[in-house]
Amino acid sequence: MPGGQVIYTDTRAWGKVEKPLFYAALGLTGKPDYLIQKDNQIIPVEVKSGNAPEAPYDSHIFQLASYCLLVEKNYGKRPPYGIIHYENKDFSIRYTKELETALIELIADMREDDFKKEVERSHQQPSRCKRCGYQNRCEESLV
Ligand code: SF4
Repeated sequence: MPGGQVIYTDTRAWGKVEKPLFYAALGLTGKPDYLIQKDNQIIPVEVKSGNAPEAPYDSHIFQLASYCLLVEKNYGKRPPYGIIHYENKDFSIRYTKELETALIELIADMREDDFKKEVERSHQQPSRCKRCGYQNRCEESLV
């Protein structure tokens, strides 16, 4: 996952999102906390409570990526990046084709897992668990 780049944003330009966005082909719905309209682009912002981790968690990155995808499908404009806003820091995450592909694969995996009673860890990477938002609750965690 891209680690993200720390940026500074002017929160006065952030517009609240009233209604969830929807993309039927993937059965995907979601509501970014804010959208920024800037230079003919629409940038989604996800707000997280608490201080920033060293690098954004993969789960936060994928959530933001899903908002980028929803913005593209609903407004016909592909956001070049999105923003994860923590209390003490903002990260910009580039919405690359690689991230989009990883997101679509993740959604497909999740759809498959919906039908399983138990889901096993799918990797051997402690670094991934270290950056995962479910680490404290997950019985399969490697850290
Ligand atoms: S902590 Fe659990 S859910 Fe998170 S990456 Fe590791 S195995 Fe997966």
